[in-house]
Amino acid sequence: MLADESMSRHTTWRVGGPADLFIEPADPDDLQRALDMLKAAGVPWMVVGAGSNLLVRDGGIRGAVLHLKYFRQLDIEATGRVTAGGGLPLMTLIRETTACGLAGLEALAGIPGTVGGSVVMNAGAGGQQLADVIESAVLAGPAGAETWTKDQLQFAYRHSALNRDRILISAVMQFRRGDVAELAVAVQQRLSQRRSSQRVGGPNAGSVFKNPPGQSAWKLIEAAGMRGAVIGGAQVAEQHANFIVNGGQAKAQDILELIERIRGKVRVASGIELEPEVRIVGVDPVS
Ligand SMILES: Cc1cc2nc3c(=O)[nH]c(=O)nc-3n(C[C@H](O)[C@H](O)[C@H](O)COP(=O)(O)OP(=O)(O)OC[C@H]3O[C@@H](n4cnc5c(N)ncnc54)[C@H](O)[C@@H]3O)c2cc1C
Repeated sequence: MLADESMSRHTTWRVGGPADLFIEPADPDDLQRALDMLKAAGVPWMVVGAGSNLLVRDGGIRGAVLHLKYFRQLDIEATGRVTAGGGLPLMTLIRETTACGLAGLEALAGIPGTVGGSVVMNAGAGGQQLADVIESAVLAGPAGAETWTKDQLQFAYRHSALNRDRILISAVMQFRRGDVAELAVAVQQRLSQRRSSQRVGGPNAGSVFKNPPGQSAWKLIEAAGMRGAVIGGAQVAEQHANFIVNGGQAKAQDILELIERIRGKVRVASGIELEPEVRIVGVDPVS
């Protein structure tokens, strides 16, 4: 357990103040013990995956952050049924399943999240999303372990019913049979597409806003004249207007202000209210 751990070390934006406590449980029993202790002590908690969809405010996180570094198991059955730990990198899941000729998530190659964060966000790309393969999820929470079916998870666009009160320990998925060579090509194509379209020149969290129904967030941002806009150390990427880049010295506050400025400009230009895809957590610094 660490005290005052800087969250800038655990987010892809590389910003964010310290978490009071940073806990990496060894296994599900250890995790449940930690949750019970935190509940008894009245300490709030949250879970962080790869921090690739997360903006932590500069004042940090009051309470405990749980990190599932040791929850990386992967069990692939001949039937295409796969059980993956909540802390397993999504890319490891994709590499291992495609190498076994299992199709279903190959279009997500290059997304830098964990299985847990990707289920919570119903991460997707290229016409595929986590909801396509998930059968059930094993969760830990203040009331103990439970298993939720796909119906209970209520997937929608970049959304699931998993809220801040439960932790995904593992997910059970069903993949389709595919051709190993074709899947390897598909993965490589996705990786090189991402390398060229998402070379944005600095730490980022991918798409900042959800696409409104029938619209592209990046087109709305560009039409509102915000491509390349700068606040402090944060900049709307020149290469992709729905990305905000940390130029090196950005504070979370710079990114937050840029998010609000983009929303305001898009509202005026198009009448559309952009909704952040990134999760914003933590507190402002005490002044
Ligand atoms: C360069 C780049 C490209 C990206 N491209 C895409 C893309 O194409 N498509 C897409 O959908 N996303 C994309 N993303 C966003 C991000 O990678 C995904 O949303 C990813 O699935 C988030 O996973 P994570 O582990 O990083 O979650 P985090 O950012 O750590 O957390 C996200 C949310 O999930 C919760 N959470 C995390 N783990 C758990 C768990 N085990 N149990 C319960 N709750 C949990 C957190 O509390 C938080 O609320 C991109 C990001 C980057 C930086």
